[in-house]
Order: sequence, then C-alpha cells, then structure tokens
Amino acid sequence: MSFETAIVFAGALILLVGLFYSFRIISILRRQNLAVAWIVLTVLIVFFLIGFILFALQTLGLGLLANIPVESIAAWVFFFGSIFVLMMTFLNNRLFVDIFGIRLSDKEALIKFAKFLDIHPFFLQSRINPEYSVTCDSCAKKVKYSIPDIVRSHPNLERGVKIEEAMGTKNYTFFVRHRCEGSLREIPVTHDEKFEYRSKRASRVL
Ligand SMILES: [Zn+2]
Repeated sequence: MSFETAIVFAGALILLVGLFYSFRIISILRRQNLAVAWIVLTVLIVFFLIGFILFALQTLGLGLLANIPVESIAAWVFFFGSIFVLMMTFLNNRLFVDIFGIRLSDKEALIKFAKFLDIHPFFLQSRINPEYSVTCDSCAKKVKYSIPDIVRSHPNLERGVKIEEAMGTKNYTFFVRHRCEGSLREIPVTHDEKFEYRSKRASRVL
C-alpha cells in the first residue's frame, strides 16, 4: 500500500468520527426543527467517505468502478468539499451572530428598534434611558442593558422584544442576554409605554 493510499484510509477513519458527531448534532437540533442543514452536511460526509474509499481502492487497483479514473473521483470530492466548507462557514456565521449578536452603533440600533416598533427614531431618542439594570435571579449580579444592547444581541428582533397591548396601553418585554457563570442566560424584563422599567420574570439558560 502506498503512502497516499494510507493517508486516504486514515482520512476515511477521521470522517467516520465526524459522522458520529454529526449524528449527535442532528439529534440535538431535531428538537428545535433546525436539523435540515446538518442532515445535508451529514449526507455530504457520507459522500466523502464513499469517495475516499473508492479513491483508495482505485489506487490499489481494486477499483469497483473500473472505468472511472482516480482523477475524476478526486475532482468530485474537491467540488463537494468546497460546498461543505461554504455551508459550514454559513452555519457558523449564523450561530456566532446568535451567540454574540450583530455589530451596530447605538444610533443604528435605535433606528432599527424604532422601525420595528413603527415609531419615529426622534421620539425614541428623547424617551429612552441610556441604561437600565436588572438583578440576575441566578448569580445575583447587576446586569446593565440598554435598548441598543437588546437590538445588538437579537439579530431577529422579534425574539428580543415582545409587544403586549392591554387596555389601551403598550408593554414591552425585552429579553436581556447575560453571560452567567459560564452559560448564556436570558432575563425577560417588562417596560411600559415610556420605556420605564416595570418588572422582571424568571430567567432561563439558553
Ligand atoms: Zn447571572
């Protein structure tokens, strides 16, 4: 067996380990209905595994597909490899944006917030306290937050701000993200129509 064949077989073994972890990721994401992209990635890993094995067998002269040249197998593995990398970077980008939020200046964040609530940004600027604070029910630390912080930590603002209307007045529930003893926690805090702090509810780990 040549050195090249040996490293392709070693690569196939590493792919098997990757396959094991991708099944675990799918079982975690399935509960949240987010597994589709990882099912596609898993199919790609299986495809690579088959490609690697066919490639190694061809180089050993034991090809199952005698009329397909080694170069052709390698070309397809390269092509799908680039699709795999593209999907991984896309998924990781989405994941990191979810964890760390998006980069926006205070002003940009306030404009986005005003658009979301369908009010004029000027009205918002004059009414918003720059910073609020709430006590975490888990670590008992004071967590400071501002409306721009809420916008930055929730790229999908619908998940960060809930609008509730009752008896002609509006309440806003903000989901304040907080790094709490090694995990990420979300504290729901309710503000009134003038964005004054009203109350908080039990936090949860994300
Ligand atoms: Zn905490």
